Amino acid sequence: MISEKKEYCGLFGIFGDAEAVQKTYFGLHSLQHRGQESAGIATSDGKIIHCYTGMGTVRRVFRAGRDIYDKLPGRTAVGHVRYSTTGASRPVNSQPLLAEYSQGQVAVAHNGNLVNAARLRDEYEAYGSIFKTTSDTEIITHLLAKPTHVSNPDPLAHVLNHLQGAYSLLFLFADRIEAARDPFGIRPLCIGQISAEHGGQRGAYVVASETCALDAVRAKFIREIEPGEIVRLDEKGVSSRFFVTPGTVTPAHCVFEHVYFAKQNSTIFGENVHQFRKKLGGQLASEHPVDADVVIPVPDSGTSAAIGYAERSGIPFDMGLVRSHYVGRTFISPDQKLRELEVKLKLAVVNEVVAGKRIVVVDDSIVRGTTTRGKIRTLRTAGAKEVHMRVSCPPIRFPCFYGIDFPTKEELLANNRDLKQIRQFLEVDSVGYMSLEGMLSCAVLPPDHYCTACWSGKYRIPVSVAVNKFTMERYQMNMFDEVDTD
Ligand code: SF4
Repeated sequence: MISEKKEYCGLFGIFGDAEAVQKTYFGLHSLQHRGQESAGIATSDGKIIHCYTGMGTVRRVFRAGRDIYDKLPGRTAVGHVRYSTTGASRPVNSQPLLAEYSQGQVAVAHNGNLVNAARLRDEYEAYGSIFKTTSDTEIITHLLAKPTHVSNPDPLAHVLNHLQGAYSLLFLFADRIEAARDPFGIRPLCIGQISAEHGGQRGAYVVASETCALDAVRAKFIREIEPGEIVRLDEKGVSSRFFVTPGTVTPAHCVFEHVYFAKQNSTIFGENVHQFRKKLGGQLASEHPVDADVVIPVPDSGTSAAIGYAERSGIPFDMGLVRSHYVGRTFISPDQKLRELEVKLKLAVVNEVVAGKRIVVVDDSIVRGTTTRGKIRTLRTAGAKEVHMRVSCPPIRFPCFYGIDFPTKEELLANNRDLKQIRQFLEVDSVGYMSLEGMLSCAVLPPDHYCTACWSGKYRIPVSVAVNKFTMERYQMNMFDEVDTD
């Protein structure tokens, strides 16, 4: 699916490598699919933390190459790519977020959404705290700096116990990295090691949102960081502690990571993403068979599921839609006509594959449905005889408060529409969505180990006040910031 739901953030950290900043660049590059609005790297030379952030893709922000690298000395680094899920897209909200407090400097990189950030911020502002960003992440630095927290035997664990919501976090202190994952393990986070042979003196350690970033720097996957765990990387090596008692919380991994967000070559929540999506496609073919001539994916995230559908159904797979990777995000898509033009730029039809054929179109998900309908119309114009829509997840009916920027509930196609109305809206001959049970049957972990709230409406972490991207945008900011993507 294209442009209806947004990626959120990617994290990368490395400890003990002479090429820490260069490897962080490559790691972030491989995580670019998780956010293109801003990018940043903070490094530590052992005494001082240096930080550089900017708007746009990793390549754009660090285009000056060595000039910027020279300003980021040190053998330890954390990096971040961002799509804003709380806080507008502005330079001040770029991460890592650098702060100074009584214990020194800290740079924080966050993936997820804190559902209690607005309430915590209200409390701190009531006592006079001044916030310089509108991101939920900044509250964490204020919590760290609070004198009663600083005096705790384990201030970081103590602070994490104040947070509610989804968070994978990297903290860069002058002498170490601390990597933490929320007790539900909603967002992925893993650890690996670069062997000395590949430039890691004594075997540098790496932490990243997805294993594709470990591959990018030739680090060997060690394991996922556990929900509720803090992993510390310092001169002594790796150490671990838990801020919630292990086994007391049932995980709630985001299935959407598997369905859409994560990269196909990554392994998250114990399973390779491509293989999981292929299984989804096979299950989809079993649940919603149809007589057709060809199976085509909506690339790229629908491709693995379409392969699985074609394999199970015996219908040939082909590329009827081709994605252009050279079209960046358009500056703004204010109305439907421009959005449809944007989709046309990104997805082109291979007329020879679709003309005169009965087509099964496989996509990972449908959010608003307007872009899908635009594509269906293009396929019809190219001569498709029948179009059967197959979707490798259930109908999305509820918003996500844990870090995915869906449109409002009212804008969701499946909100208040039955299957017949959805079929009519999409202008297809038939439509079939994966069942929730079918989707979870494809996963390696037990069904209750996943968050399914956007399909089921069952939120594992209670949300008292609806959180959205602009929750913290309290004042009209009369400023324009360049959002420069390439
Ligand atoms: S609500 Fe949906 S997108 Fe959000 S964390 Fe849960 S499964 Fe993922």
